[in-house]
Amino acid sequence: MQIHDQKFEIFISSEQIRKKINEIALRINRDYADANPLFLSILNGAFIFTADLFREIIIPAEVSFIKLKSYRRMETSGKVKELLGLEHNIFNRNIVIVEDIVDTGKTLNHILDEFAELGAKSIEILTLLHKPDATINHINLKYVGFEIPNDFVVGYGLDYDGYGRNLKDLYKVVN
Ligand code: 5GP
Repeated sequence: MQIHDQKFEIFISSEQIRKKINEIALRINRDYADANPLFLSILNGAFIFTADLFREIIIPAEVSFIKLKSYRRMETSGKVKELLGLEHNIFNRNIVIVEDIVDTGKTLNHILDEFAELGAKSIEILTLLHKPDATINHINLKYVGFEIPNDFVVGYGLDYDGYGRNLKDLYKVVN
């Protein structure tokens, strides 16, 4: 399978993903039975994972979507990230952040910093994929679907330069 200039091979099937989602949902349904969790899904990558997972949640729960806009401020080095779309009041709420993949952990670190000041009752991370070898910021990941090697992956919501999000299975780059 080819996207742009790169070849990809199948890595994790939609069936494996479905089973993993069922396992994670079981845990969440138990852990948050009386906690009225608010799932905050990070766009764009997590939208398909979130949709599949959320339909397996059978306890009272809300879901909302946020986006991190990355831009370079003129004249200064380094990227500035702005959190967009957080319309819920998260004060005193039990938050579950839903990510597609944790790579370096920078994105999550940034989000956690912003949330710390908003008075959530609890904040836990749920990620479909984690690349432990790439993670430089230590973050406590409560629910992890699959730990994967440090290879670029696409499919199931994740893109390569805009394409590949619609693939049902997860693919990794052929080196
Ligand atoms: P971090 O801030 O943890 O380094 O990066 C997290 C974000 O980088 C993810 O939400 C995702 O958008 C992107 N990312 C990291 N690794 C991959 C990958 O292997 N494939 C794709 N498609 N995106 C990735």
